[in-house]
Parts: sequence; C-alpha cells; structure tokens
Amino acid sequence: MADVIKEEISVSKNEPIYPIGVVSRLLGISVFTLRMYEREGLILASRGTNQKNRLYSISDIERMRCIRDAITNKKYSIPAIKAILSLIPCWKVVNCSQEDRLNCPAYNSIGSPCWTFHHKGNVCENRDCRLCEVYSNFTNCEEIKSYFKQI
Ligand code: SF4
Repeated sequence: MADVIKEEISVSKNEPIYPIGVVSRLLGISVFTLRMYEREGLILASRGTNQKNRLYSISDIERMRCIRDAITNKKYSIPAIKAILSLIPCWKVVNCSQEDRLNCPAYNSIGSPCWTFHHKGNVCENRDCRLCEVYSNFTNCEEIKSYFKQI
C-alpha cells in the first residue's frame, strides 16, 4: 500500500486564489451580483495571470459576506454601504500631507470609498489599493466601528 503523504497547505487570508464561480457557490450569491459589487467599488477583485479571470481571497469572501448581510438582512442600499466605506479616514491611515489632502478627490467628497477614485499626482497614485490597510483592514462593518472607537 502506497504511503499517504500529508502536506500542510497554508494559504494567507489575502491570497487571491478562488475563482468567481467557486465564490458564488460558497456564498450563494450569483456571479452577476458579485460582478456588480465590483462595478460599484465595494470589492476589488484580483486578476489572474491572464488579466481576465477574477480571483478572490478569504478576506474578499469575508467582505462579500458582510456586504450581502448588510443588503439582505439590514436592508442597506449599495449607496449607503459606499457612503459608510467613504467615512474610513484613509488620510490618517496613509498619513497624507496637507497638500495631498487638498488635491485628493476622495478626501474632498463623500459617497464613495477612496479606492474608487483616480489619484493622479497624489500619494495614492502608485499604491496598490488591494494591499492598502484602508481597504484590507476593513473587511466588515465591526472593524470600521472599532477603528472609530480608537481615534
Ligand atoms: S491607496 Fe487606495 S485604498 Fe489606500 S488610501 Fe489610497 S486610494 Fe485609499
């Protein structure tokens, strides 16, 4: 009898490895709806090596579960969720200069999270939002509230 080799596979929470079809099945959310979450800027999907296939991490799945709960059970609209996400004080997390703040479309508006804006010429221009703490540290509403309690 062949030996059974057990390997321990460890996957980081932020590693994008799940295709959209798998996430759809895991969460019971249609592929159409998952794409719509992305179009609305609620989620930033990662692209596979061919730049076409969306891939999601465990953190992304947690985020989508929270979004679905907010919409289905708490009856939040998508604009309301975007407005909540826009309140995350990204300028404090990223520690932008006063000048950057004045030139930042996200700092100067409300209604959409900072990662949905174009940031030409300011501190966020070359940052990868998927890796940024502003995006990755707030996968659910409780985390946003805990952050506000600390500041
Ligand atoms: S890098 Fe992206 S997520 Fe981070 S503060 Fe800038 S726009 Fe927001």
